[in-house]
Amino acid sequence: VQLKRNVQRLWWRRFVTEREDMVGMDAAIVTHPTIWKAAGHVDNFVDPLMECSACHTRVRPDKAIEEATGTAPDSALTLEQLGLAAQRANVTCPKCGLRAFSAPRHFNLLCRTSFGQQGEEAFLRPETAQGIFVNFAAIVGTVRRALPFGVAQIGKAFRNEISPRNFLFRTREFDQMEIEFFCEPSEASTHFARWVSDYHAWLMAMGLRPDSLRLVEYERSRLAHYAAATTDIEFHFPFGWGELMGIANRTDHDLRQHSAACGRELKFQDPRNPQRAPFFPHVIEPSIGLDRLVFALLCDAYHEETYRAANGESAQRLVLRLHPELAPVRFAVLPLVKNNEDLVSKARKLAHDLRLAASPFEHVVEFDASGSIGKRYRRFDEIGTPFCVTVDHESLRDDAVTVYERDTQQQVRLGVDELLRVARRGGGDFSSASTRAP
Ligand SMILES: [Zn+2]
Repeated sequence: VQLKRNVQRLWWRRFVTEREDMVGMDAAIVTHPTIWKAAGHVDNFVDPLMECSACHTRVRPDKAIEEATGTAPDSALTLEQLGLAAQRANVTCPKCGLRAFSAPRHFNLLCRTSFGQQGEEAFLRPETAQGIFVNFAAIVGTVRRALPFGVAQIGKAFRNEISPRNFLFRTREFDQMEIEFFCEPSEASTHFARWVSDYHAWLMAMGLRPDSLRLVEYERSRLAHYAAATTDIEFHFPFGWGELMGIANRTDHDLRQHSAACGRELKFQDPRNPQRAPFFPHVIEPSIGLDRLVFALLCDAYHEETYRAANGESAQRLVLRLHPELAPVRFAVLPLVKNNEDLVSKARKLAHDLRLAASPFEHVVEFDASGSIGKRYRRFDEIGTPFCVTVDHESLRDDAVTVYERDTQQQVRLGVDELLRVARRGGGDFSSASTRAP
């Protein structure tokens, strides 16, 4: 949870508060069916599905074919063609092993619920984006922005996935971090290219390896009917390449659709040019799954390595090389021994002061007195804690502590004042490691 919060915080800082052209919003999760009818989800947000006639297990034919043959079928196949392709690929029921399936049908991914006194039909949002479009007039009327400007939102989305799988990769509820960036129609492709490269750079600054990432530009034939361009940024997960995020040029499709459905023109009036007639801006949508990003960050941070221990022998350690701003526990404070009351109370006080030093930032400080110092270092290496602070007998006299740095395994002696001063700056540059926020 703390790792996830840290990712959210850095994202919000990088894409909202550090920029002059972004605002944040928080739309409703439970939404009226008209929104999803207008957005096309009621009719088009579907997965193909076929049912085992023996045990009634439901299977996605496209995924089953990919698993059986190693290649995904063409996404343009009709339901009938998919059924035939599944037969040719000898797809069997994962539960009973038989090969007797019903013809594939479309299965809608919207999660249905009911709301209000009459129990009217409602949907849990399958994406946060549409909440931005339907609130467009309220946003424009409130924040007085000239184009281009963007609206950012972090929140839960729900999809009735038939086969959730691969740990955090495909789940039925997840968090999205989405931006709708509104711009002049003539400038849309320039902004699109900039968002692709900005996000690519940010993902690497967060700690993903360049060779774990690839950009996949959609061919014209694969584009959704409303999109002028789409690029996915894929990550090399342990199960193979998978979509980490998508950046789409959605033109003015969404605002036009919602305008038609609600009977109000969701147009933009240029405040710098009142003579100009109101018009539909175009929109670039960078959309990333927070849970997928957390998963990817864990994968690339995970290292098993050999190092030379203090006694000169080689030893093994497991270390999570997370950026210090991302680490769930930023500081561990360790009294050298646990049965010395002076050491323990000094260490507890230091842990408390370090916690307060975080404000207005946010970081977690743990106090740990059990086991040898070496064992404690290994425990904190494993959860990616960048700095371990040891309080020893000398500390009681000179008010200095030993700071162990996770990545270099260097230890430096530092005055408590100096340590608190660096912690207050929101980082911790105790050795050579760069700790600038991504
Ligand atoms: Zn079966």
